[in-house]
Amino acid sequence: MSTTAAYAAHAAKAPLAPLTIQRRDPRAHDVVIDIAYCGVCHSDIHQARDEWGGGIFPMVPGHEIVGHVIALGSAATKFKIGDAVGVGCFVDSCRQCAQCHAGEEQYCDTGMTATYNARDADGAPTYGGYSTRIVVDENYVLSIPAGIALDRAAPLLCAGITTYSPMRHYGVKAGDCVAVVGLGGLGHMAVKFGVALGAKVTVLSTSESKRGDALALGAHAFAATGDAQTFKRLAGSFDFIIDSVSAPHDYNAYLSLLKVDGCMILLGVPETPSPVAAGALIMRRRKLVGSLIGGIAQTQDMLDFCAEHAIAADIEVIRMDQINDAYERMLRGDVRYRFVIDTASLRA
Ligand code: NAP
Ligand code: ZN
Ligand code: ZN
Repeated sequence: MSTTAAYAAHAAKAPLAPLTIQRRDPRAHDVVIDIAYCGVCHSDIHQARDEWGGGIFPMVPGHEIVGHVIALGSAATKFKIGDAVGVGCFVDSCRQCAQCHAGEEQYCDTGMTATYNARDADGAPTYGGYSTRIVVDENYVLSIPAGIALDRAAPLLCAGITTYSPMRHYGVKAGDCVAVVGLGGLGHMAVKFGVALGAKVTVLSTSESKRGDALALGAHAFAATGDAQTFKRLAGSFDFIIDSVSAPHDYNAYLSLLKVDGCMILLGVPETPSPVAAGALIMRRRKLVGSLIGGIAQTQDMLDFCAEHAIAADIEVIRMDQINDAYERMLRGDVRYRFVIDTASLRA
């Protein structure tokens, strides 16, 4: 076991504070990773505050992990010491079900093993990337391509793959009209991917102050959702809506913006359900779907796509002890567009 510095929510809704954890000794196929940076996802807040229920405390959040390989298990062959690597939202799965065989481990029949707030095959709690070191089976580790700065790569491991995966699965293509709802960590990556795929991207945001940023990110248009005219003006105009809003909101209002056969993709996980009117779907044969992160193979494909298209997250690097303030800022929509923890601040 190796003693590792970390930050944890010691109980639901408690501010995060230091915690010392133990990482396992590497098993045959394990990779030991010295964590350089970890992105801060809104899912970290939902879970640290136990908004989804069933939280395991103390909880060390963090599933946008990048760092370097510092040791390998005896049979690990995929990486070598010094490689830049990443770990996303899960660290294991059953490896036997149809989804695991199809490379969609996030939909594993028996449930993927989440990077934190889960239990591994031995029943031990998993601890995430708000820490200096992690030990992960090589089959669940990603290679970070040269050319993407490591701190800007971290958010790709969740915000990146979560937006890239449904765009690929549902076939967003050149010329499609795509609305991105909520310009946060996920939303800003959705804009970048949509633009790279040749779509005509409109940002729909509660924050008028993000108009300039949205256009600078490459969006073709911006509309404030606080303005009732927005919903009249844009009715029936999108092929896809990518909804990354973290708080409860009226899905029906956004569904009205889809064309015939248009598809609204839910990514955000508000803590309470919202009713959907059948008519909002029936009248134009619209689709309302959801999507969960992405599999290991597609995550590597996404990272390679980012390297090829010079895509990375727009970030604000923070020290570990700034995390509680960062959470409050995210809840106010005040993040441009991902906080990334520099774990050097945990070693000091
Ligand atoms: P984030 O950076 O905090 O961004 C969320 C954005 O939602 C905000 O920036 C804000 O954008 C908008 N928003 C917030 N409150 C709102 C409200 N009351 N009404 C309307 N819009 C509001 O969060 P994130 O890290 O991108 O995560 C977004 C959601 O996706 C979270 O629920 C998270 O748990 C979930 N998630 C899901 C997956 C998955 O696999 N499906 C993966 C990762 C995260 P504007 O200021 O532009 O309005
Ligand atoms: Zn996440
Ligand atoms: Zn499985």
